[in-house]
Amino acid sequence: MNLWISAAGLGAAFAGLTTAAVMHPSSAFGGAVRRGPAGTVSLTFDDGPDPTWTPQVLAALAALDVRASFFVLGDAAANHPELVTRIAAEGHRVEVHGANHRTVVFRSPAALNAELIGVVDRVEALTGRRPRWWRPPFGARPLLGANPTRAGLRLVTWSWSAKDYVLGAAASAALPEVRSGAIALLHDGAGAPSARARTLAALPILVANARAARLAVEPLPDPS
Ligand SMILES: [Zn+2]
Repeated sequence: MNLWISAAGLGAAFAGLTTAAVMHPSSAFGGAVRRGPAGTVSLTFDDGPDPTWTPQVLAALAALDVRASFFVLGDAAANHPELVTRIAAEGHRVEVHGANHRTVVFRSPAALNAELIGVVDRVEALTGRRPRWWRPPFGARPLLGANPTRAGLRLVTWSWSAKDYVLGAAASAALPEVRSGAIALLHDGAGAPSARARTLAALPILVANARAARLAVEPLPDPS
């Protein structure tokens, strides 16, 4: 009997530890946002700015007359500050992807906060606006948590991916129906031409589908 109780207690304790390890990042962030406002579709671009692809994405968005959100890397922003300024000048919002594209899963909260604040400060210096959203590389959160509110950031992931990191697969009109509140994940960072061709091919289809569904294509609004 005692042995059974001990085993059950141990199991409960282990389950508690496991749950705590899984839940902690979520609670530390107040939960990740996966949906935008009803009636809208948000186009979001990760991994830039990139001197080859960001200007092509900006040209495509201008031709479609839509504004989007760009989740930049601090290192890339340092290398191409003029592109960060241009993104904002063309009416888009610049948000934070990370200091670089290494995963933050094992990063300490202190180191991560310092990195995020560094990127926020850099973007504000280039655009005049402090970013409000953070999407970690690969969408993977730090196991030890962090306090992105210190950097003024809220965690956001996505509801739909263009899968424009897949090589050699062209986007088609068979893209799924765009839903109200969708946050679409795309990329303007360095990538294979076939992958970025997929990005550029997906844009007019996404926007046409959104407009056909009477949804407004807008940047992700600031978190409340
Ligand atoms: Zn990324």
